[in-house]
Amino acid sequence: MAEEFRLEIRNISKRYGNGVKALEDLSLTIEKGGMFGLLGPNGAGKSTLMRSIATLQAVDEGSIMLGDIDVLKDHESVRRILGYLPQDFGVYSNVSAKMLLTHFATLKGITGHGRRREVVDHLLRKTNLWNVKDKKLGSFSGGMKQRFGVAQALIGDPRLIIVDEPTAGLDPEERNRFLNILSEIGENVIVILSTHIVEDVSEVCSSMAIISEGRLLRAGSPSDAIASLKGKIWKTAVTRSELASSRDKFAVIGERLSGGRTFIHVYSDQSPGEAFESSRPDLRDVYFTTLRQVN
Ligand code: ADP
Repeated sequence: MAEEFRLEIRNISKRYGNGVKALEDLSLTIEKGGMFGLLGPNGAGKSTLMRSIATLQAVDEGSIMLGDIDVLKDHESVRRILGYLPQDFGVYSNVSAKMLLTHFATLKGITGHGRRREVVDHLLRKTNLWNVKDKKLGSFSGGMKQRFGVAQALIGDPRLIIVDEPTAGLDPEERNRFLNILSEIGENVIVILSTHIVEDVSEVCSSMAIISEGRLLRAGSPSDAIASLKGKIWKTAVTRSELASSRDKFAVIGERLSGGRTFIHVYSDQSPGEAFESSRPDLRDVYFTTLRQVN
């Protein structure tokens, strides 16, 4: 399995009981090594996809293979090699980090006392929680809770790690720490970071997919996607009152504030007009051109 280890999602669809089609004929291949960013707006279907891969819910159609494991049928084999950090990781507020991590290690089947202590201590150090290991989880900041979430997801050397919307609500320093810890995870592991924050992907992911309304819109490396927009993104400062009319005139893919002024970014093969200057494309330009499907 070591050589061929990849996640292959083929033609999956999921409709909820209320009629919402959360995933629609979605196919995606995710290779091991480096972090994979799954990017999409709220409601795109990211959590539904993550929960399906994590064997927490069923799909209506399609298949998911993880190496040679049939994910939709062989839940046990997936769970043995899965680390999952859910969006709403509830923590027991009255126990210490060390106690709860020890408990999770037991649940993951690490029952030998010495071995378990080794694993728990190693993970507390790795996630920078060693100094607060005896503090109650209820006293933890958002960033500390997320790092605890990573520690529990790493128990048992998982080969697939799924992290669902992790950085919302973290301050910049906590967010950096969190992303650094994730990006140190080994080359033989598949790490999927699901997020609606473009910067999470541009900072730490070597490959990505953009989904919206349950469909795959784009997949590949962020740098290739950015390169494909070279020379096609233009910007100009506008006043608030010019905004609406410029949306009618140009393929506006976004607005940015800079130094108190509003700039519009426009997708165009040629300069849209004298007031525009060429803008070096970034992943936000990729994201919004893709969502608006202007290229
Ligand atoms: P994301 O994680 O990208 O925000 P979700 O997978 O949570 O997207 O949701 C995709 C769509 O499915 C949304 O329209 C959402 O409202 C809907 N949805 C998610 N979970 C359920 C559920 N348990 N029952 C009904 N609709 C749901």
